[in-house]
Amino acid sequence: MPIFAGSKSATMDKQLKVFKFGGASVKSADAIKHVGGILKSFAGDPLVIVVSAMGKTTNAMEEVVEAHAAQTGDAFQKLEKIKQEHYQIAQELCGDSEELFTLLNDIFVEVEWVLEEAPEDNYDYMYDQIVSIGELISTRIVAYYLQSIDLPVEWMDARDVVRTDNIFREGWVQWEETTERAQNKMLPILEGNKMLVTQGFIGSTSENFTTTLGREGSDYSAAIFSYCLDAESMTIWKDVPGVLTADPRKFDNVSKLDALSYREAIEMTYYGAKVIHPKTIKPLQNKNIPLRVKSFVDPKGSGTLISAEIEDNYPPMVAIESNQALVNISTRDFSFVAEHHMSFLFQTIADMRLQVNMMQNTAISFAISVNDVDDKVERFAEAIQENFQTRIERNLELITVRHFNRETLDGLREGKMLMLEERIRNTVQMVVKKVPALRRKDEEVA
Ligand code: ASP
Repeated sequence: MPIFAGSKSATMDKQLKVFKFGGASVKSADAIKHVGGILKSFAGDPLVIVVSAMGKTTNAMEEVVEAHAAQTGDAFQKLEKIKQEHYQIAQELCGDSEELFTLLNDIFVEVEWVLEEAPEDNYDYMYDQIVSIGELISTRIVAYYLQSIDLPVEWMDARDVVRTDNIFREGWVQWEETTERAQNKMLPILEGNKMLVTQGFIGSTSENFTTTLGREGSDYSAAIFSYCLDAESMTIWKDVPGVLTADPRKFDNVSKLDALSYREAIEMTYYGAKVIHPKTIKPLQNKNIPLRVKSFVDPKGSGTLISAEIEDNYPPMVAIESNQALVNISTRDFSFVAEHHMSFLFQTIADMRLQVNMMQNTAISFAISVNDVDDKVERFAEAIQENFQTRIERNLELITVRHFNRETLDGLREGKMLMLEERIRNTVQMVVKKVPALRRKDEEVA
């Protein structure tokens, strides 16, 4: 069945799939070879393959930006290290291919030019121009290697497709334009049953400046392509067997969920379940595109299927978002926090793109728990200071439990001071502070 009956893709005889491979799956030459092995079994299928920066490259690129901004003098050195690591992987996969090394060099040179100039005043703009090369480099290497093992691969610059607004580091997708460009630029290639390798995480403004979509945003990129091209399905290949009931690094006894509704997945990822980027699900849900989360270590494993199907028997699921700040707001003149105050506060929250995870109000106060990113909280307090007093508590955790039972909640509350709690139907949310447990000195523990 064609993807777009009656539209441009009506000539495509097979259904389009979108795959996303994250940093861990392309962190070394061996890892990339493994990806090649997985893709071999899909040769002949139209496929969009969204690839992240290799391993922890984005963190390393962030250090380059910081060094450049602070003029610490070692930005070039840091970039050189990243360059050598990538060249080494490229060499292992493709030998001394002059063509590939020229492509890579061209990308690195652009950043070197930026580093030669004085740092930009607009940090976020500078960040996007520099950090985005992680994805450009990784996709060049991956695409080149896949071609060398005879897969019908073409490389595409995601910035020619994903159009965002002008907010750097958190670009918002302009859907209409992005859809039009995806259909015009990607479909003709995919109709030849090709595999298109492109970058996650990046887009561009109407003036063609590079933007990024927010950290860990490659999942979201894959969802954008899936949506715009009406994909049959999307698959995220991960180093875990699927979506688990809690983060295995934080909890024992976690188990894999075989199926999950879009709604469950949105709720859990929004509140900190790190397995999928929170913005990923909505575009898929809007077009009813199923999402599979599968293990690249065990590609034959069943993974987790996220779709419109509603299960009614979920086990308790726990998501933890650390780095929460609780902002208590009250009026300076001790008046009630009234509608016009709320409207001003919400407008300021929106202008700053502050992610509010919980809120509670009383007659004279309003409390919000937000992700404590950079200096956003300080800037927010500053923006409202004329009329409002704020008290900020930091280093808190937001714990969200869906389908809770008593035992799970009791376990989670142990050793924690409860700052804010809310229960809505089957979900309990709490903002907590870790407090060291008091131990008796005068009694020996048996
Ligand atoms: N490379 C980007 C990051 O690490 C995007 C991604 O991997 O999803 O945030």
